[in-house]
Amino acid sequence: MSVNITNARIRVALTLLALVLFVLIPAGFRAVVQSAFADSSIVDSSVGVSSANVHIGVLGLFHPHEFTVSAPAGSALLVRAGEERIVLEKSSGVGSANIRNGAGVISASEDGEVVVTAGHQVVRAPKVTISSRENDPADFVLSIPQKITRHYRGTLEIKPASGTLIAVVAMDQETAVASVVAAESTSDTPLEALKAQAVAARSYLVASRGRHHEFDFCDTTHCQFLREPPPPSTAAAVASAATRGLVLAHDSHLIAAMYTRSCSGRTRTPAELGLSAGAYPYYSVECKHCRAHPVRWSSRISAQDAATLHSSDESARLNIDRRLGWNAVPSNDFVVKTERDQSMHGQSMHDQIVVEGTGQGHGIGLCQSGARAMAEEGADFRQILSHYYPNTTIVAAR
Ligand SMILES: [Zn+2]
Ligand SMILES: [Zn+2]
Repeated sequence: MSVNITNARIRVALTLLALVLFVLIPAGFRAVVQSAFADSSIVDSSVGVSSANVHIGVLGLFHPHEFTVSAPAGSALLVRAGEERIVLEKSSGVGSANIRNGAGVISASEDGEVVVTAGHQVVRAPKVTISSRENDPADFVLSIPQKITRHYRGTLEIKPASGTLIAVVAMDQETAVASVVAAESTSDTPLEALKAQAVAARSYLVASRGRHHEFDFCDTTHCQFLREPPPPSTAAAVASAATRGLVLAHDSHLIAAMYTRSCSGRTRTPAELGLSAGAYPYYSVECKHCRAHPVRWSSRISAQDAATLHSSDESARLNIDRRLGWNAVPSNDFVVKTERDQSMHGQSMHDQIVVEGTGQGHGIGLCQSGARAMAEEGADFRQILSHYYPNTTIVAAR
């Protein structure tokens, strides 16, 4: 979102404010903040204008060949495809557009094109962008026919990519934070736990941009799980707004804060799991709730897969889970057992490897189950964050 400040006095005031901030903020942290916000500035942030957009690749898990974009009732969307401009508006009779990868749809089209169909209009272009009529962010509904429908707020771009389509939503960072908090919470999660989650999610968004080639983050747990933006009155939206702009810093660096669904009584460090730590080493901290109420799991995997597993090698576990699903080996705190199983298909004997463990996720950083329990016992979000991220400070990055 661009902001035109025409008033000269405001410009002077902002310049002075920028100079004051420049002097007051330590150089290392300033550099991190500035690079994290790319072309937005601390000045915009300090006047409360949300100028930091984050680019989220959405619904890529479905490897889509086709999308439908619709305007919500009572609003209009502008579709730009090459030189063409198409307005989608339910009351005009053309409320949605169909977008396909060009390859194979129309014989003349190639993989490097999308084909947009809206009403009687058919347009081919290298990509399509969808916004409000004024080119601003808009509410829109994005569907993969017969598979999934989601509502988003932002500017949408759809491009072809090796037979499929890539959909990227440029959304306001705070919209992304609220969407992550909504996806990561249940209706009974206490507000202070949601606020801690919001600060962790925002820190991750600010500190680790560009995780993918075509966009900053995907919408799966590879980056951060993200679905629709929550309505403003929901706890997830309230928690995000109450912590607006707050992020975690350690030793003058912003932290790409990791979090986990539940630990097994203590959190892990990246070093314990054979991962590189980055700017923050993390710490193994006691988690009272999970110690008393561990989430136990058990699964069966092939002997070949089991041979690659080691609790100090997180990458090996992730490789198995990427192939077999995230429940194959839900955490890295496990023991491997061998068992002869005669029940499979009721006939031949199979060597089955049984893996039993506790916890859900990598176990690093904030434990969501533990955070929830701390909040239920009266801890506020700052206490929760300082427990799971020792030696950090909560700072206003914008
Ligand atoms: Zn990702
Ligand atoms: Zn825990």
